Amino acid sequence: MSRAHVLALPAPAQGHVNPLLDLSHELVKHGIKVTFVNEDSTHKQIMKAQEAKGEENKEQVGNDRVQLVSIPDSLKQDEEANSRPERVVSISEVMPKKLEKLIQDINEESDNEKISCVIADGTIGWALEVAEKMGIQRAVLFWPASASFLALFLSIPKLLHDGIIDGDGRPTKDQIIQLAPEMPAMRTTHFLWTQVSDNLNAQKNFFNFIMRGSKNLESKDWVICNSSIELESPAFAFAPKALPIGPLQGRKSNQINHLAGSFWPEDSTCLNWLDLQPDKSVIYVAFGSLAKFDHTQMQELALGLELSNKPFLWVVRLDINDVENYDFLKGIEDRLFSRGKLVSWAPQQKVLSHPSIACFLSHCGWNSTIEGVINGVPFLCWPYFADQFLNETYICDIWKVGLRLDRNSGIISREEIASKIKQVLLDEGFRGRASQLKEKAVRGVKYDGSSNKNLNNFIDWIKGTK
Ligand code: UDP
Repeated sequence: MSRAHVLALPAPAQGHVNPLLDLSHELVKHGIKVTFVNEDSTHKQIMKAQEAKGEENKEQVGNDRVQLVSIPDSLKQDEEANSRPERVVSISEVMPKKLEKLIQDINEESDNEKISCVIADGTIGWALEVAEKMGIQRAVLFWPASASFLALFLSIPKLLHDGIIDGDGRPTKDQIIQLAPEMPAMRTTHFLWTQVSDNLNAQKNFFNFIMRGSKNLESKDWVICNSSIELESPAFAFAPKALPIGPLQGRKSNQINHLAGSFWPEDSTCLNWLDLQPDKSVIYVAFGSLAKFDHTQMQELALGLELSNKPFLWVVRLDINDVENYDFLKGIEDRLFSRGKLVSWAPQQKVLSHPSIACFLSHCGWNSTIEGVINGVPFLCWPYFADQFLNETYICDIWKVGLRLDRNSGIISREEIASKIKQVLLDEGFRGRASQLKEKAVRGVKYDGSSNKNLNNFIDWIKGTK
């Protein structure tokens, strides 16, 4: 008897790999085989991180059925330095052929475990074309961000028609728009494609890539989305194509497993340090896997944390922080880090569920946002790009579980940081609303929750029993 075999393809970024891996674990639990395909450079990075942690059985995650494999990305040396969104465009030119080859090889190897379904990240819709060409009938896109962000992509034709953006994706003016009443307001100059690069040509290329991808988003009856009706009902009403199955991180089993896809080895010593801190006292500071700091801003943040007089745990990624930043942090280590701990990568979900965490100073990536939400943690918002401003709007204006940090002349000052930390910690309302939001958010993935029912139906569809 043949078994359902899913090929899962994330986009090459931490915030895309983690939730698709979470989904893969769910499928495996239901007896489905999953082959998880990264392009070469991401695969190597994950393997290196696991090696640094000393893990055995590196090519496999969880049990023998989520198998990590890779296909060559053929990135030229100058392209490897590009931003992750730019890489998504580069690899789309060479990867379809390689993916075809991988599917052929897998299918030749085993008669009763041929690839029967492809689940591809929403930004790599070309995988659906490959699936169709290879005669794979079940193929679907996975959206690792909010339904509102998906709604924005699906609304591109209307934005063009209404003259909100021009044919290259550039906003015709800087304005705030709302796709539907009660959906989060969006600023046109924050649209993802305007921010991938300072280079106008690169912006245009990326926009064209998104336009092509949007056709794939449109071509299917539904796109599975790592969010829930409870969190975003107006957005799901506006974009009925989006099928909520999340938040996947709210499922207990995934809180244990998901780190297997980490791009960097996480430093778990911070958990012992957190054990020593009083309940609800620590500011957790982390900006995800992509955001970069300049030296002045790094200084202000360090000095703002000092001024707040609170214990803090700060993730400072080694990959993007230059020597100048490190020298500065080293120079103030003695006085600053008597109250704080610095790590280069944290086991974030475990950190956020620790009782000592008082508040999450976050860049508001969707994963970080929902990881804070499912743990009932209030936020301080420091968005950089992509959907992060949209998520900030959810946090501050819709759910009211956090505060934004104001930028004066582009910089967030130490005084602003210290004062907002104080406000969030002193106002019990934030904690109260965050606890209520947590209950709502995890309701969807409980036994009779709406996301859970959708996920079960989706699993039946993959198995061909629906
Ligand atoms: N993360 C982590 N350790 C860290 C910082 C981040 O494990 O020190 C994880 C975090 O739990 C989340 C992902 O990295 O799952 C970041 O995704 P997100 O969407 O928040 O931001 P992005 O990296 O895409 O900007």
